[in-house]
Amino acid sequence: MMAEQRGAEVLDAGEGTLSDRPVVTFAPIEPMAQERTLTFHYREHADAAALDASAQHLVEAAADASTRAYAPYSRFHVGAALRLANGGVVTGNNQENASFPAGICAERTALHAALSQDPSAVVVEMAIAVPSAPADRPVSPCGICRQALLEQEHRQGAPIRIYLASAGGKVIELAKAGDLLPLSFDASFLGT
Ligand SMILES: [Zn+2]
Repeated sequence: MMAEQRGAEVLDAGEGTLSDRPVVTFAPIEPMAQERTLTFHYREHADAAALDASAQHLVEAAADASTRAYAPYSRFHVGAALRLANGGVVTGNNQENASFPAGICAERTALHAALSQDPSAVVVEMAIAVPSAPADRPVSPCGICRQALLEQEHRQGAPIRIYLASAGGKVIELAKAGDLLPLSFDASFLGT
């Protein structure tokens, strides 16, 4: 529970966030119900410079990719860089569209670019950078990208380490993308 609360504080800190909202509680527990708690662990690095050289390079590649984003509507430039098991690095950025839903996020641009080139590719880690984000609040992937990353973890049978980075500030490191999507929907529900 502590980790969950801590996560909420970190990922939602700032103005108008969860911490300002009314606390929603459960009704008194009925006899047959069980209350369960999910926790996940992650690391906060004070600066990307504290990461190992490989991760630093990935964060830099993600930040660099953000400079090539096509984001004339939101002006919210996101870059992603992933490292494959063969050592290759693939980058992506957000690509917006006047028909807003037609746009795609940086994470999925990078992911699909990599897998479209090599369907058997294994993604070891991904850095996501939004240089304009506050130094103390790296940006998290949206729900659709979390689902896409989870799919790839299932597809490759191995976790994808995630780094969330701002410019010259805190970096959040997660051991696997699935941590971002508890009680998730996956292929097991389809019997495949
Ligand atoms: Zn997204």
